[in-house]
Amino acid sequence: MTQTATGKLPPQHEHAEAAHDLAAENRALRARMAYLLEQAERNHSIMTRHQAFDLEIVGAGNFPELVGTIFRVLPVISELDSVTLTLIDEDADIRTVMGKLDVVFEDFPGLIFVETLDELGFDLGRRNAYSPTPKPLLGMYDAQRHARSFPNAPGGLQSVALVPLLRNKRIIGSLNLGSCDPTRFTPSLGTDFIEHMASIIAICLENVISNEMLKYIGLTDSLTGVYNRRYIDRRLLEEIARARRQQYPISFMYIDIDHFKRVNDTVGHGGGDEVLREVAVRIKNELRTSDALARFGGEEFVVLLIDANLESAAFVAERIRASVAGSMIVLSPSLQLSVTVSIGVACLEVGTAEGEAEVIARDLIARADELLYDAKENGRNRVVSTRQ
Ligand code: GH3
Ligand code: MG
Ligand code: MG
Repeated sequence: MTQTATGKLPPQHEHAEAAHDLAAENRALRARMAYLLEQAERNHSIMTRHQAFDLEIVGAGNFPELVGTIFRVLPVISELDSVTLTLIDEDADIRTVMGKLDVVFEDFPGLIFVETLDELGFDLGRRNAYSPTPKPLLGMYDAQRHARSFPNAPGGLQSVALVPLLRNKRIIGSLNLGSCDPTRFTPSLGTDFIEHMASIIAICLENVISNEMLKYIGLTDSLTGVYNRRYIDRRLLEEIARARRQQYPISFMYIDIDHFKRVNDTVGHGGGDEVLREVAVRIKNELRTSDALARFGGEEFVVLLIDANLESAAFVAERIRASVAGSMIVLSPSLQLSVTVSIGVACLEVGTAEGEAEVIARDLIARADELLYDAKENGRNRVVSTRQ
């Protein structure tokens, strides 16, 4: 285009140029408008899908159902390539309880546990009781920084959002969203929507975790961490029914620590508690994962063995006896003691479980208890599995 000496365009050119600019501007505006419209429609449809998602997670009855729904549904409705959850689990309480309630963590590779808040990587620098809570971190995916939040990241992950999960201003973890679209999560993106989503997920998580904790507390013995009597009573009924259907034997052990009163007298009640914990550990070490160990009360434990006949149950009982008696229990470097247990073992053979499950259960426990009595009578530190 020719220019005058002053650098200005001749008038007719100015005119054409202005029209050209207008047309271009118009086109750009239209394109922008179409883009915004498309975005609005997309947001609307995402919003509708999210409402259904919210309802589904609010209705989740337990921990696996909740995290399962989050991992299965969220990537689809939010069009994300990766969704993971990091939970702060300082003393591994969540993992312990969920493990006891038979949650299979391998089913949820996107579930990550960390010990401390700092490991989440949020900006907590100036945070105190009055300052606002930390904001989501949005930006390009950086393998080095984000590998921990996306342990199984799909190839081509480009942008991520790490959203704090907050409960009453306390951070319980982070919701990690990843996309192969580099423009999906940019630092300038508004975060109201994902923060809202994270707040609902946080409420649901806290609810199911505390419900599961309550369930766990109701079924376990707080001193030793093994099951309690309530659990075994219920489980025994289920197992009797199953053993009948599937035609296998189940066995029941009644274990009592010998002269435990003397143990308390020697090492005090606190020392006695420590002995109870150690005996529980030694019993547990001899069992299969399908067997259930409970503290029935005081210094008495019971074990329910699935698909075990009298002979194999007596064999396990003998291993338990030997393990308890085999080495001193160390309470402190200067305080060690030996304890022994007596064990009665009874079996519900295939074909013998006729009648009401409650009656059969009571009879099985009573038989094991009688055999335990025989073991005590015959000198303690022994296993008795048949009337002598
Ligand atoms: P035996 O060999 O005949 O079983 O004798 P024992 O002394 O073990 O039997 P006994 O049933 O007379 O005593 C059980 C003792 O267990 C009495 C009680 O003080 C103690 N005990 C019960 N529960 C607990 C507990 O939770 N902690 C501690 N440290 N002791 C307990
Ligand atoms: Mg006793
Ligand atoms: Mg005793």
